[in-house]
Amino acid sequence: MAEETIFSKIIRKEIPADIVYQDDLVTAFRDINPRAPSHILIIPNKVIPTVNDVTEADELTMGRLFTVAQKLAKEEGIAEDGYRLLVNCNTYGGQEVYHIHMHLVGGKPLGPLLVG
Ligand code: 5GP
Repeated sequence: MAEETIFSKIIRKEIPADIVYQDDLVTAFRDINPRAPSHILIIPNKVIPTVNDVTEADELTMGRLFTVAQKLAKEEGIAEDGYRLLVNCNTYGGQEVYHIHMHLVGGKPLGPLLVG
């Protein structure tokens, strides 16, 4: 059983967060330290620590991250201009919270993908 992080408490509403979407598979909430006008984290309700831990059984949930990202991008009014979806993995990938999460960032030109 994977270890819980602060994100599990957000899913269960045990600590405050600006939750913008929740269903049986995923939860989305605004990043506490937004790097763009729109910065939302979309996460599975189930604890999956990193991309390395995703299994075939998670394919529906992983797909839901994308359909919810698309819906939220429309709601945020950033779909037409464009946005970026990011998933960091482990230390070199810059992952801080070990509950897999998709960053939805947009609302300004983001420039080229930063590597390094
Ligand atoms: P990572 O670097 O792991 O891909 O991103 C983790 C993200 O989670 C960071 O952008 C950070 O600001 C955000 N974050 C960390 N703790 C909290 C929290 O307690 N609440 C919210 N809303 N965001 C958090």
